[in-house]
Amino acid sequence: MKLIKVKGIVIREVAYKDNDKIITILTDSLGKVSVIAKGAKKTNSPFLASSQYLVYSEFILYQNTGYFYLNSASVINTFYNLRIDFDKLQIVFEMTKILNKVTDENQDCEKILKLFLNTIYVLDKYDKDMKQVINTFKIKLFALLGFAPRQDKCENCSKALLEDLDEFVYYDYIDNKFICEDCKDTVDSKRRIRISKATYNAIFYVIRSDIKKIFSFELKSYTDYDLFGQVFMDATLSGL
Ligand SMILES: [Zn+2]
Repeated sequence: MKLIKVKGIVIREVAYKDNDKIITILTDSLGKVSVIAKGAKKTNSPFLASSQYLVYSEFILYQNTGYFYLNSASVINTFYNLRIDFDKLQIVFEMTKILNKVTDENQDCEKILKLFLNTIYVLDKYDKDMKQVINTFKIKLFALLGFAPRQDKCENCSKALLEDLDEFVYYDYIDNKFICEDCKDTVDSKRRIRISKATYNAIFYVIRSDIKKIFSFELKSYTDYDLFGQVFMDATLSGL
């Protein structure tokens, strides 16, 4: 029996048979995998803690007749503060729902796992604006999956968009591109949103930053940032 060692976090757990559970783990080296944790529902099970939603552990797995089984596990972080904060937990539910949708078995999820761990670490330890947290996660996630808007200039006239901070930029969510104030009418008003330049700067900061640094910015208002995050994700998911 070959044992496989992975690090990962449980992003879904479902009851299975009498005392067993099927847990979905986002791992560093196997992508997203479903694992049968035998006896995990028993109160004296060695898997009791590590088979719970949102617990980050080192897992030892084995494969049998096409299924992964849990052999042993040691907990690394339970993110305790998150579990007792209903508002923060809602954000985590939303994030794991998205992760379940966009990740797969055998896909390289190392960076995605790092992003998720970093995001919940920030949620667990600090009191940042919730709109900043969830939308930064969405923007970086879809950027890692290869869906970042291509250019940081107007795609119609090539004007640099990072200057003139008092102006607005327009995001065409059908073509996933930015356009300047002068060119806004080249795109139907139904398929574009208007966002502040400060928001635009933040978006490109997140796209380009190392995962560890993505929360090191602040905006006076996260309204436009929230609008962009929602529209960007919905447009990307509908094309997946
Ligand atoms: Zn332009």
